[in-house]
Amino acid sequence: MIRKRQFVTLLSATALALTLGSAPAQAAPEGHGLDPRPSTAKLARELRALEWLSLGEVDVTSLGKSNQGRPVWGARVGHGKVRVQYVTQQHGDEPLGTPAALEFLRKVGVGHSPWQRWLRSKVTVDIVVRANPDGHEHDWRYNYDPEAFPEYGEHGKGYDLNRYHNPSLAPELNPATESGLVQRRYAAFQPEIMVDYHMQGRYVDAGGKEITASVLWPTNAGVKKADVDFAKQIAVVAQQSINGHGGNVSQYPGGDYEGIARNAYGLRGSGSVLIELSAMDSREQAQIQDALASMLAIAQKAADGSLRGVDPAKADAIPPRGPEIPALAGARAAEPALD
Ligand SMILES: [Zn+2]
Repeated sequence: MIRKRQFVTLLSATALALTLGSAPAQAAPEGHGLDPRPSTAKLARELRALEWLSLGEVDVTSLGKSNQGRPVWGARVGHGKVRVQYVTQQHGDEPLGTPAALEFLRKVGVGHSPWQRWLRSKVTVDIVVRANPDGHEHDWRYNYDPEAFPEYGEHGKGYDLNRYHNPSLAPELNPATESGLVQRRYAAFQPEIMVDYHMQGRYVDAGGKEITASVLWPTNAGVKKADVDFAKQIAVVAQQSINGHGGNVSQYPGGDYEGIARNAYGLRGSGSVLIELSAMDSREQAQIQDALASMLAIAQKAADGSLRGVDPAKADAIPPRGPEIPALAGARAAEPALD
């Protein structure tokens, strides 16, 4: 039985939850209540709101349409010499990079503080916000192309977008539509830095502490050493920013295939890094904030030049990913290690 005082407390909590739930991300208290999985329609509204609130500092364009006709959004902020590109949600069921990207655009683009003006004068940050909107709506990894028999992907669903960035594959011939859109945006922008945000299962380190995120640089043998070293510098900045937020970063045991964005954009000469956020249901808001912290730190250190001073050997010292936590890993437990 609920006594009157408890009932009032419950009512207030419900009212608060309703307020937070219905408020736009811009009005939510910092670090709380960000929608981890905004719908396609809500994402479009949030981006248009950012464009408007930033008085044009955030520039949003449709890069083209997904197979099912949903726009794939590109958002750009800043006008500096150093070009940085982030990609979120190539895999539809790996959502948390997307709300982090919205927060990044708001923090950098909305307002005219000295720090914001300085950062925008030093870097141009281009974000492909949710590369795979169809996969998001179907809540699966692949794009939507059920008739296809993909070399990488699943018949009945679609292509694995993160296997179709091969430098030799022309965007107009790319069978994975949305990967072609990312390729085109990359080619037009020519970023020095390219960071691709994904999600993984749940793992521990050698000491039994849970890993909150994993990072990796290009491992394809064709990537120049200087470009691998630059990617390692970016990976170290990502590790430090996430660990500084209470996270625990490991290396990611990824593959060498050239069609993986991490390898492909390294082959094309960018400092190219993969960030995998662990799927920790009870830590979702913190995971979004960690991704945001890495986006801000990479842009900041690219802007002030300190990124090039990081010791790349520190990346090799990032601990390896330990064993999976089977009881917590859920549906992902069956999947092998995949970028
Ligand atoms: Zn992924």
